[in-house]
Amino acid sequence: MIDLNFKDLEVDCMLISGLPNVRYLSGFTGSNGLLLLSDDTHDAPILFTDSRYQIQAAQETKGEAKVHLVRSCPLSHAAAKVLAKKRYRKIGFEKGRMTYQQYLELKEKLPLNAELVPTGGVVDKLRMVKTPAEIDRIRRSVLTNSKAFESAKKAFKHGVTENQAAAQIDFQMRRYGAERTAFETIVAFGNRSALPHARPTANRLAKDELVLIDMGACQDGYASDMTRVLFLEKPTPKIASLYRAVLEAQLAAIDAVREGVKAHQVDQAARKVLAGHGLDKHFVHSTGHGLGLEIHEAPRLGKKDKTRLERGMVITIEPGAYIEGLGGVRIEDTILVTKNGCEVLTPTSKELTSL
Ligand code: ZN
Ligand code: ZN
Repeated sequence: MIDLNFKDLEVDCMLISGLPNVRYLSGFTGSNGLLLLSDDTHDAPILFTDSRYQIQAAQETKGEAKVHLVRSCPLSHAAAKVLAKKRYRKIGFEKGRMTYQQYLELKEKLPLNAELVPTGGVVDKLRMVKTPAEIDRIRRSVLTNSKAFESAKKAFKHGVTENQAAAQIDFQMRRYGAERTAFETIVAFGNRSALPHARPTANRLAKDELVLIDMGACQDGYASDMTRVLFLEKPTPKIASLYRAVLEAQLAAIDAVREGVKAHQVDQAARKVLAGHGLDKHFVHSTGHGLGLEIHEAPRLGKKDKTRLERGMVITIEPGAYIEGLGGVRIEDTILVTKNGCEVLTPTSKELTSL
């Protein structure tokens, strides 16, 4: 199990409640779990879960954590009892992950001299740099996603609805090995592509319309993320020039990525190109985000993020421009940060594609 640096945290133990973090540290994938890690090397980590997960928890943690099955009370009550018995005084918890209810349940059962210490992003920071095994899983997820895209492309015909096309994408993803989609697939036709996070509707694809697809697979727990734009028949010159500008911005941002560069500098590279085309005010989100066990992880490639990129980080690069009444273009790849640059993991072509 990965060690946390308790000295810096100034706590006796940490109670991990974010499920992706529980999974990252212990291997447990169930939907109900709390993980207790202590500063004392003699104390094995304890995974609190309920009896539905008796067999699964033992298998997944591979004996690295003691599984504590909780039968008829909240996990936090059982954890509080153990914390009291071990006489821990300073108990770290994840302030961005623990629910207020869990917090109250712990407080209610802990001795008065025990203190709950809020900590922020401890495990999330560790998760930014991926292990080789994690990178392999992301690679497989990315390939599945791209294969699903190629197969689902046939569904984008005149008259198909956004919902039907999205269903085809989701089906193909699972067919190629994903256990689920990493997020709700986005399919937006025509004007609706100007909504960066459009939900698929019963809207039908018409001639000379633009198609925006944002899709991601989740395979062996790891996410992939890709956005592509297609056209039914011939794109109008306005759309074609919008596409070229966004692609130029995306390539500039990819070019800016290397170990040692700050996240906001990559964002700046994309923004500068779009400003050159007078499109900066139409770029309404950040340039990208980390991904792994979750679809959105640290770092965030936005204007303010000063995180230094390190080799082994996996991030997306996805600038876009959205014009009400015309449509939106976003181009997104999943990439791996390396010492001298990056490796674009997404194999799907970024050529302007007409259907
Ligand atoms: Zn994304
Ligand atoms: Zn995306």
